[in-house]
Order: sequence, then structure tokens, then C-alpha cells
Amino acid sequence: MILVVGGAGYIGSHLVKELVEKEEVVVLDNLSTGHRDAVDSRAIFVKGDLGNVDDLLMVFRSYPIKAVMHFAAYSLVGESVVDPLKYYQNNVASTLTLLQVMMKFKVKNFIFSSTAATYGIPDVELIDETSATTPINPYGRSKLMVEQILADFSKSYGLNYVVLRYFNAAGAHASAAIGESHDPETHLIPIVLQQLLGQREKIAVFGTDYNTPDGTCIRDYIHVTDLANAHILALEALLSGKKSAETYNLGNGLGYSVKEVIETCEKVTGVEANVEMADRRAGDPARLVASSNKIFTELGWKAERNLEKIIADAWEWHQKQTY
Ligand code: UDP
Repeated sequence: MILVVGGAGYIGSHLVKELVEKEEVVVLDNLSTGHRDAVDSRAIFVKGDLGNVDDLLMVFRSYPIKAVMHFAAYSLVGESVVDPLKYYQNNVASTLTLLQVMMKFKVKNFIFSSTAATYGIPDVELIDETSATTPINPYGRSKLMVEQILADFSKSYGLNYVVLRYFNAAGAHASAAIGESHDPETHLIPIVLQQLLGQREKIAVFGTDYNTPDGTCIRDYIHVTDLANAHILALEALLSGKKSAETYNLGNGLGYSVKEVIETCEKVTGVEANVEMADRRAGDPARLVASSNKIFTELGWKAERNLEKIIADAWEWHQKQTY
């Protein structure tokens, strides 16, 4: 049985939907940002907190867990600057509690959701896993700290782990049964689609004077189902003993500017956007684009869904959004 912590959240719920096809799954989530309705009905759901030892002990005593996949983190850069305690408490301290209970129950396989924010402001066009990790905000630092803890646990306690550093997760399940739903929403693609649906008056483009071809920030958008599939491959690599301590980027190697994303949304939906130019948002690097060659070479994973597909699936979801 696989324990998915944070399996009611955006990325976790998409992973669960793929994973239940192959494994028995138990989801632990405190529903602070996740949605009960996002959890596939074939998974067992436990409402509980990863920082609460009693909740964890109950799960590990009740189910024969052979691996843990950890999605339960706060992930907003701006919020992490305003309230770092919240980020270090949940993203680092609670993860340590989870690892402690895993060690107690001799559960040695762990997949960790990390982030492009661990790289800070990169000095290379294509970021690979050897690029410098100098995060510029508490969110990125909280994730990098856990990565360092995992490396130490691997050496000292024989923990097997895969760290997956996501770039910009976007899109929705092709069935439109689940998708992205944050409150408040801060991410570009859902904000654009909400505006096209008339749920927002306008879209603010945060900064038009970056050192990029059109002056707006460039990001590497990756379909949430491609992300989910990478987790399945990483899990198989851990369970088969093929991998024991690895870090992989998950992106598609292509960057799109904010303006290009908005134009592609207009093209896919046939609806014209109401856009205004605005000041830069604090903490945004000009360009974040991944090389995912390492995971392609080692596990055979690559992104299969392009920006049009990401937006088309997200559009289906936002039109019928159920939670
Ligand atoms: N962005 C924007 N307007 C918005 C939301 C985001 O211009 O209303 C920009 C943001 O500054 C960044 C890019 O879109 O350059 C992607 O932002 P998002 O919050 O989706 O992801 P992040 O890269 O911060 O993880």
C-alpha cells in the first residue's frame, strides 16, 4: 500500500488518480487547502495532519505502507516571505515528523515534491540538477532543507528517496473530473481562464521590463498528468531497487512568456482576454526553464502534453469546476 500525504491537493489528487490503477492507496490530508472531492473513490481517505504524530501512528499501524509520497506543503512564494514560520513549521518540521514515523515503522521509500524555487535566480538558460541551489525565499529554502535532510537520512538510515523538482504545474485531468482549485488563486493559467469566463475583471501582467524577448517572465509549464506519470516511474524505480537517492527536474524544456501564455489561452478558447500591464511581483526570476534530460535518460520520462493541451484541459475543468 502507498501512503500519499497531501493527496487531496492539486498535484497529489492527480497522482492518486493514476496510482489507484496500479496500487492500493491511502491518502492522508488535513484538507487545509485540499478538497475531499478531489480524492479518487478507489483510495482510502484519512483526514489528519502530517505534523500530528498520533495521526501518523494511526495510519502506519492500520495499513501496510511500503512507500510514502509527500505532497503536503504550502507553496506560495509571497506568503512564505510574509509568514516564514508557517513554511518552516509545515514544510520542514512536519516532514521531519513524518520521516521519524517512517523510520520507526521501517518504511524506507519516499518520494518528495520539490520545486524549481530551490534554484533561486539561475545563471543558466536551461536549469539542470547540477545547477546551483541558492533559493531566494523561505518557500524554496524550506524545500531545499528537506532535500538535505533526505540525503543525510539516506546515508545514515538507508532511506531510499527520489526528489522531484517541479517547474510550473498546470492543466487538469483529461476527464475534467479534477483540476486546479486554489483559494485565493495566484497562478497564471487559472487566473487567465477565470477572466475569460468572466469570473475576473482583468488579468494583471506582473512586469513588462524583464530581460526577455517580450519583457515578461518566462516559465516552463508542465501538465499535471505528466507530473503524475513521473511519480509513478519514480515509485517503480524505488520499489525495484533501481534508484535509492536521486533528484530530477520535471519540466518540458520549453519556456513561455506571460504574454505567450495569455495569447495561447485566447487561441485555445476563442475568447479575448482583458489584460493590463502591472508592476513586477516581488521574488519572480525572469526565466525558469528546466532541462529534464536526466529523468528521460534514467527513467524514460518526458513531458507529452504541450501548452495547448495544458490550457485545453484546464479550460474544460474551469467551465464545470465542481470544487
Ligand atoms: N503572473 C502574472 N499575473 C498573474 C499571475 C502570475 O503576470 O496574475 C506571472 C508571474 O509573475 C510569473 C508567471 O506569471 O512570471 C507564473 O506565475 P505563477 O504564479 O503561475 O507561477 P510561479 O512561477 O510563481 O510558480
